[in-house]
Amino acid sequence: MGRLWRREFGRLATLVAAGALVGWPFSAIPIGIAAGLLFCLAFHLRQLHALHQWLTLRPQEEPPAASGLWGELFDRLYRYQKRQRLTQQRLRATLQRIQESSEAMRDSVVMLDRHGDLEWWNSAAERMLGLKPQLDRGQHITNLLRDPRFVDYFHGRDYREPLTLPSPIDESLILQFQITLYGDDERLVMARDITRLHRLEQMRRDFVANVSHELRTPLTVLAGYLETYTDMAGQLPPRMGRGLSQMKAQTDRMQNLVNDLLLLSRLEIDQGGRDDAPLAMGELLESVQNDAVALSEGRQSIRVEVEESRALFGSEQEIRSTLSNLAFNAVRYAGEGRHIVLRWRPHGEGACLEVEDDGEGIDPVHLPRLTERFYRVDKGRSTATGGTGLGLAIVKHVLLRHDARLEIDSRPGRGATFRCLFPAERLRHTTDNVQPA
Ligand code: ADP
Repeated sequence: MGRLWRREFGRLATLVAAGALVGWPFSAIPIGIAAGLLFCLAFHLRQLHALHQWLTLRPQEEPPAASGLWGELFDRLYRYQKRQRLTQQRLRATLQRIQESSEAMRDSVVMLDRHGDLEWWNSAAERMLGLKPQLDRGQHITNLLRDPRFVDYFHGRDYREPLTLPSPIDESLILQFQITLYGDDERLVMARDITRLHRLEQMRRDFVANVSHELRTPLTVLAGYLETYTDMAGQLPPRMGRGLSQMKAQTDRMQNLVNDLLLLSRLEIDQGGRDDAPLAMGELLESVQNDAVALSEGRQSIRVEVEESRALFGSEQEIRSTLSNLAFNAVRYAGEGRHIVLRWRPHGEGACLEVEDDGEGIDPVHLPRLTERFYRVDKGRSTATGGTGLGLAIVKHVLLRHDARLEIDSRPGRGATFRCLFPAERLRHTTDNVQPA
């Protein structure tokens, strides 16, 4: 480039010198220089015009012929344009391949821009979500998927868990939505048809609910007779008396199991929220404390601490069952001579319902699976203490229905703390209409 610039300056100097030389005999050197400069300017303007014409009218074609600096400039621009075109072609081909593979997918794929407006979608999205080709482009997704649960999910920006909803065009089609954030706050909405899975899940739930329900009546009859016979145990031979009390204990266990299974089915099937009311937590804690004291039979000390004045807005029956499950577990597993605290306290903006014990604790490897149905750390021990293996599963479901989450903090030998964390929206300042526990 240095060489070309030197030549350009040389040309300018030659023109100026020639102008001065021509003007000298007429004593008009400045005019001669000005004429030389003008000539140079005219040349560059002509090249600029040619460049403009080329770029605006026929950028695909070869550049106009030019020499020197302008020639070099045209060549470089041409090469650069060619490279750009090639990259564009490659990008277009890749995009097309991606779109073709998305098109072949059975799941709906919808691409949204950073405002949530529709940019592109595959034909499965037209089938499942009722999006119209071309017509819906640029529409906001919540104008087309209007279900309030989807709108909340979309604006909530917490996409860790998928959302299950019926299709907006066919109620019998059950879809699982998953949103992914990418690029500059753009979103990819995927919807999968899970109708079959949903039906199977429904069948499983119905089956468990029906079996539990059918078992209830025979169990009540059995328990009733056994109750009467154990009352008469004194009149029976001792071997029969022992057998009867064992039968009674096992029937009680089965009844507890059936009741817990029915409660879990109800929690799963029913949306909840109908009997929600502000709950007087102090009274509720004391009432559960009394039950826990009765179960403990003096083996542990059980205390209540209320540090939060706001009431919890929820279902009295469900929150009571949660607290009872946690408190009874503490009584069952903490061991003799331990201390148990039932606590209602502020936590950030929200509040925490907590059951703490200083008992044997739980090995951290078990913590992630503790809320699974029938998961036990020590099966023999749990059965002996009358556990059904469903207590923490019930707790988890109740908390889900109350927008709360369970946090378990425990180390072997250091006790266990079960925290139910409720958001501020679930709390009420008012003491009016507070449901007595
Ligand atoms: P279970 O009916 O067996 O008590 P849960 O779902 O209530 O079923 O509890 C699951 C397991 O968690 C229990 O079997 C027990 O091993 C453990 N666990 C629960 N609470 C405590 C606690 N406070 N201390 C130690 N272990 C506990």
